[in-house]
Amino acid sequence: MEQKLISLSKAISYLTPVGPTDRPILMSVSGDRHTLMIDGGNSEAHAKLFLEKLHEAGKPQPTLAAVTHWHWDHVFGLSALSVPVISSVDTRREMEKLAVYSWDDAALDQRVNEGIEIPFCANAIREEFPGERDMTIVLPDITFEDELTIDLGGLTCVLKQVGGDHAPDGIVVYIKEERVLFLADAIVPDLYAPSWRFTARETLSLLDKIEAFDAQTYVISHWKAITRQEYVKEADLLRTLAFLVSEHEGDLDHILKELEAHKGEPLEMEEAETADYFVNGYRD
Ligand SMILES: [Zn+2]
Repeated sequence: MEQKLISLSKAISYLTPVGPTDRPILMSVSGDRHTLMIDGGNSEAHAKLFLEKLHEAGKPQPTLAAVTHWHWDHVFGLSALSVPVISSVDTRREMEKLAVYSWDDAALDQRVNEGIEIPFCANAIREEFPGERDMTIVLPDITFEDELTIDLGGLTCVLKQVGGDHAPDGIVVYIKEERVLFLADAIVPDLYAPSWRFTARETLSLLDKIEAFDAQTYVISHWKAITRQEYVKEADLLRTLAFLVSEHEGDLDHILKELEAHKGEPLEMEEAETADYFVNGYRD
């Protein structure tokens, strides 16, 4: 699948994601003095492709990079960069654990058997790296707790730890003057639990933190940039399900019925799946 560079504005461009290898969106934000790259990519090849695409489009090369959370697909590309890398303290701590692992098939299989790794990621790692896997985990140079503001020169980025079920260490990046919020995987369920799940408590706390930013555009790592209207629809689904799962004590049939009544039309598959994730999070 061909990856394209999409410009949201003169200052902001991103490289589209890839499904089978689980490549997330990589984004660059350019001020007068600095260009911030958001996420390191799932491999050196991924990070290098992004730098090439920026070059071809006449866009500045990154002078700083930030990683949104510790998951492999957001950090394995960092070794291709020669700029300072920024993350939350919690992300760095999780990445320190990755740094000691081997990534060959036997090591991956073993970690999947032990429940440390999940088949979803192990399979995508095999897709991205069919040959030898000698990746180097580069740890962030600069870490922060809770929030960090970066002045790129006429453009302000606020890095804010929002956590959530997907990755408690996770941050979002708000580009203030452009009203763009890079959500990364924040509104994705916890994939490392025995079954994919959302908890009501974490979801509501996450949505409150996200909604403190007055954004117009939201960037979702394994999808695309969406409008505020589209975000509101996603957030409404999550809030409604967080309420319904408690109200109906995790009873899926009742939850689906109420959700359909709330919506006023038949549910889409994605909505029913999301209900499932909340039931999984309620039960365990
Ligand atoms: Zn993730």
